[in-house]
Amino acid sequence: MRFGRTMERSGRGWCGESKNGCEMIELVLVDFDDTLVETAPAFQHAREALFAFLEAEGFSRDVSHKVHYDEVDPELLAAHGMGPFRMAPSFRETYVRLCRKKGRNPDPKVAERCAGLGRDFLGRPKVMDGSLESLLALSEKIPTAIFSQAAQTQYQLERIREAGVTEIIPLDRVRIVERKTPVTFQEVVHSFGIHEPSHATMIGNSLRSDINPALAVGARAILVEPYEMWHYDNVPPIHEDFLRFPTFSEAVSYLTE
Ligand SMILES: [Mg+2]
Repeated sequence: MRFGRTMERSGRGWCGESKNGCEMIELVLVDFDDTLVETAPAFQHAREALFAFLEAEGFSRDVSHKVHYDEVDPELLAAHGMGPFRMAPSFRETYVRLCRKKGRNPDPKVAERCAGLGRDFLGRPKVMDGSLESLLALSEKIPTAIFSQAAQTQYQLERIREAGVTEIIPLDRVRIVERKTPVTFQEVVHSFGIHEPSHATMIGNSLRSDINPALAVGARAILVEPYEMWHYDNVPPIHEDFLRFPTFSEAVSYLTE
């Protein structure tokens, strides 16, 4: 089931028949991972490598998937927070639990190879085509800030810088929180001097982390869906009054044209 309204190029939507409503937007918050840069595909490739390796070690993909996605990853996500740092321990633990299920003793060398697949897989941020040009166009028209979540602030800031984002949006307009929630969303909006949440708009790729916190406090939200959403992010929206576009650039065209 699809929630939200998919915008067509006709330009109708939130702003009604005219664009006047858009003039009420005083702040646009832009997510980083999977909105401006490709992150989820690198996680996916690392997991695929793990499942292939485990299959060669005699564990079926179905069982590996189940143990990893349903048991281990949610636990490690809770313990380590968002970001790549849980992946090495999560991959190692997936192997250890699979062994336990089969009554096998885990081989430390195999466990270490699993952990290795979850280390350093992210590399340099891969900027999505046109996303930085669109970020510039947006920031020239409407006050814009970056709103990202990560367990390790300094690491995330470095990735944001490496992607070239801080050449467009100055550091003092970048906010990184451990978790995006209605509370942290509202704090960030207030920090920019906006006290009427409906004058702020969040653009991001996650229903859980970008759309729902914004909607919960009465702000506007735009979902971008450059590829299939990570199942963890794909929760029901709290209501359907938000927009959807395939990419960040298309969302920006709607807001700025
Ligand atoms: Mg994101």
